[in-house]
Formats: sequence, structure tokens, C-alpha cells
Amino acid sequence: MQKRVLSGIRATGRLHLGNYLGAVKGMLALQDDPIYETFYMVADLHTITTPYNIEELRKNRREVILDYLAAGLDPEKSVIFQQSEISEHSELAFLLSSVTTIAKMQHLPTFKEKVKQYPQHATMALLNYPVLMAADILMYKAEAVPVGIDQEPHLEVARAIARRMNQDYGTNFPEPKSFQTKGSYVPSLTGEGKMSKSVEGSFINLTDDLETIKLKVAKIPTDSGKAPANVDPDSRIEGPMFGILPFVELFQGKEKADEYRRQYVSTGIKYGELKSELAEAIFGELAAFQGKRLELENNPEYVDRVIKEGAEKARKAASKTIIEVRQKMGLA
Ligand code: ATP
Ligand code: MG
Repeated sequence: MQKRVLSGIRATGRLHLGNYLGAVKGMLALQDDPIYETFYMVADLHTITTPYNIEELRKNRREVILDYLAAGLDPEKSVIFQQSEISEHSELAFLLSSVTTIAKMQHLPTFKEKVKQYPQHATMALLNYPVLMAADILMYKAEAVPVGIDQEPHLEVARAIARRMNQDYGTNFPEPKSFQTKGSYVPSLTGEGKMSKSVEGSFINLTDDLETIKLKVAKIPTDSGKAPANVDPDSRIEGPMFGILPFVELFQGKEKADEYRRQYVSTGIKYGELKSELAEAIFGELAAFQGKRLELENNPEYVDRVIKEGAEKARKAASKTIIEVRQKMGLA
């Protein structure tokens, strides 16, 4: 029997390098492995858990689908859909909220961070974010969830909910595990926290051109480029270069990063050259994606069809689960 996979991305903007390396690469790997049946959605309901603009949301729910397709998600192999079109997700989230305590949700680091980011918007929807995510996953009885490291606490919640539901109501939800890639944490360009769609100045989009990437990379904070004279040349000091080395490692490889580490304690680094080469390397990874995306932008009928067919397939799977859960909980 095939194993199910579910993942999603919020409709808060175009995809960035973090989304690509942390989530989409894993989504692609599982899509192309025949033992998995993959469901990939645009988490548009999760978008309204933080302040948003109506027109932007309308636009972004489609942009994410375009980014997915351009990155290689294939509607012949994966069910690609918009979460809000499947109303069963909201229903299951409500049902699952009956086995979830408020205290536990309030203590999650993700909840605390978002409240800090938007102090005026500590809403019920935000508190419920992990429960809705559990509903997304359990709806398809998914066992693997390709996501970045920031989502791990939410997976823990999904597992706890699955256990409680199985114990109290005799459902058979598997306990989902995250599937992580080597880019499971891409830092922000600002040097603080992770790269995020909703944090201005933190990200490089997959659709950025070389000029834009160069400008953004140029802004990554750096130091003088040389270790103090008394530092042992064999030691690995990374502190001052911390903001930039992860990018070198991800896009130019570990050897290149090690070369810079050595230069840092000997001759010193010229950040201008380093950044220019890095920008070229990042852009190089994105060229194929950008070509494919342009094609898709010129083929709206195809995209419409993918969205429509994806919803039909997702709905079919979702309705099975919701009927079963209603029955087991005494609602049918
Ligand atoms: P937002 O700021 O709106 O929350 P986001 O950039 O955090 O946007 P999400 O839609 O919340 O993106 O997350 C989509 C997927 O991308 C998740 O699997 C998440 O773990 C992954 N992801 C997000 N940011 C990063 C990052 N910087 N590095 C690695 N993975 C990431
Ligand atoms: Mg996020």
C-alpha cells in the first residue's frame, strides 16, 4: 500500500529560497518516489491567521500554484489544490479542536513569535493554526510531511491529536513525521531569524532576476572580512560570517564555504567578490524554474484545469475521512 504525504505553503507571497529548499525539494523527492501518494496544497486558510490584504490573498493563492508547478510539482503525480476549496478541512479542524487544550496551543513557540510580530492580532484563528494543520495532515492520513524545521512543533501537535483521536474515538490516524532536506533552515538575509515571506527584507524569491538577487545579497550583513591577528588559523570561527556562509554552503557547496573559512583566518575575505559569485550561483539554480514559470503564466487555462482537477481529487479523499470521523464521534 502507498503511503500518503501532505504539505502546504501559506498564500502570503511568492515562494522564496527557504520554501524551496526547506519544503518544495522534499515535496519533489516524495512525489517522484512511487511508494508515496502526495497531496500538496496552498494553505490559504492558514493565511488568514495573520493580518492580510484581500486582493493580495486572492492573487497569492494562484501564485503559489504557479510556483509549485514551475518548481516541478506534477499534477499527474501529485494532487495539487487550494485548501479552502475543501471545506472538510475547516470541519475536521473544529472536530479536532475538541481534543486540544488552549494552554498547549498558547505555549507553542510559533504562536508566541506571531503574537510578537502582530501584537494586535492574537486571534482564535492564530491559536488554532496547529489544529488546522493537524486537520490538513490527518485528513489524508498522511505519514510524511515535507516541511522546514520551523514546523516541527506543529507536527508534534498533529501526532498528539492523532493519538488522542485514536484512543478516544477509535480512529486510525497514523502519527505523521516530518521529512527534512538539507536546507531545512534557511536564514533571513537580515541575519536575524529565518527567511520568511511575511518579513520584508528577509527573502530572495524564486522569481527574482540576477540584478535583484545581487542587490539583496549585497545587503546581507558582514564584518571586516578578517579574523583578529591572534586567532589560530586552524580554528573554525564562524560568528562574524554567520549570515553569509550558510548561503555559500547551500548554493556553492561545503568546499567553497571551507575555503572562505580558511581565507578568513589568513588573507582575509573580499566580500564584494564573494557576494557577486554567490548571487550568480543562486541565480543559476533558478534559471530553469523561471523559464518554466513564464510558460505557465502564458497558459492560464492549464493552471485553471490543474486547480479544478486537484480540488476534485482532494475532495474525494477528504470526504471519506470526514464521514468516518463524524460517525466515530457520534455525529452520524
Ligand atoms: P510566512 O512568513 O507567511 O509564515 P513562510 O516563509 O514562513 O511564510 P510558510 O508558508 O509558513 O512560509 O511555510 C511553508 C513551508 O516552507 C514550510 O514547510 C516551512 O517549514 C518552510 N519554510 C519556511 N521558511 C523556511 C526557511 N527559512 N527555511 C527552510 N524552510 C522554510
Ligand atoms: Mg511561516
